Amino acid sequence: MSRYTLEKMLDRTRPGMFISGATGRQEGWVDDQNGQTKIGEYCAIAYQIWWLGRLIEIDGTLQYGDIIERTLLNHVYAAQNPEDGRERYFVNINGKRSYEKGAHCCQGNFHRSLARMPEYIFYTLDNGIAVNLYASCETEISIEGMKVRLEQRTDYPVSGDIEMTIEPSQEKDFALRLRIPKWAGTFNVTVNKQPVVTKQVKGGVEIRRKWKKGDAVRLELPMESRWIQGRGFNEGYYALMRGPQVFCLSERYNPNLKDYSWRDITVDPESLGPPSQEDQRVKQRNGLMCTATGWSPTSDRSQPADVNLVFTDFPEESAMETYYKLPDATDTMEDELYR
Ligand SMILES: [Zn+2]
Repeated sequence: MSRYTLEKMLDRTRPGMFISGATGRQEGWVDDQNGQTKIGEYCAIAYQIWWLGRLIEIDGTLQYGDIIERTLLNHVYAAQNPEDGRERYFVNINGKRSYEKGAHCCQGNFHRSLARMPEYIFYTLDNGIAVNLYASCETEISIEGMKVRLEQRTDYPVSGDIEMTIEPSQEKDFALRLRIPKWAGTFNVTVNKQPVVTKQVKGGVEIRRKWKKGDAVRLELPMESRWIQGRGFNEGYYALMRGPQVFCLSERYNPNLKDYSWRDITVDPESLGPPSQEDQRVKQRNGLMCTATGWSPTSDRSQPADVNLVFTDFPEESAMETYYKLPDATDTMEDELYR
């Protein structure tokens, strides 16, 4: 049943999973990709993360971590207002998001699941340690009765540079498995600034060596923007992603768009600027923003672009739309999580 569900979530033509990592509408299964109302009941999302974490525990495959990461950095962070702490029951993909009044099940599960997120960063394997999520943190893991202290330093996903320090209490031979996200076409990994031989494993790579106190691992993942093809309701529309993050157009940063059908705006992909944190709100939540220009729904695309656009990371609380039109489908791709 578990494999069957995963297959349906990631089905190439009728995926149950939305681009934000959410699954379900109005607390039920859907695969039409219509993200307008009541998307991703938080309780279901919490259990989805716990279930994927269990699958990693069963076979050490870090590919499930790609889905956990997608869900955490997009749907989960969007499920709480970063300014006043209010939590959402659902987080829509297409159209305005709302809050539920009063107390509800999803608030409890939101707190439970966030409190448990540190459990999904490191895993112990038969032959060593796996790093599933990238975030600044430190921990102590026991393998074969010996303590290993690990530390990660990174501003991920703003950059794809992750530094790790490995400190076994004494020299020890074990494998360090790193998740290489499917969106990363290339990557670079060094130990003590030297290139290392890595072994390809499902969802990542493994470095096996005699680790000693202070060994420094550096992983560099390329953070490039890409346009993701919509499915079902969003067929013919495209979403902007960079690394694990989905972007959106929001009311706060795009007051000029309020009279338009947001998803019928055509973005000029050539005009996409570099990501920045120049807005204080965005910086505070370690989010990102970037600018572009585009054409309003009824304008003539043979004429110069007539609207300025500001994209922000998906958790932006005034988000209005995740999918837009592009002049053509060149340089667009399927969501890498679908298979
Ligand atoms: Zn709930």
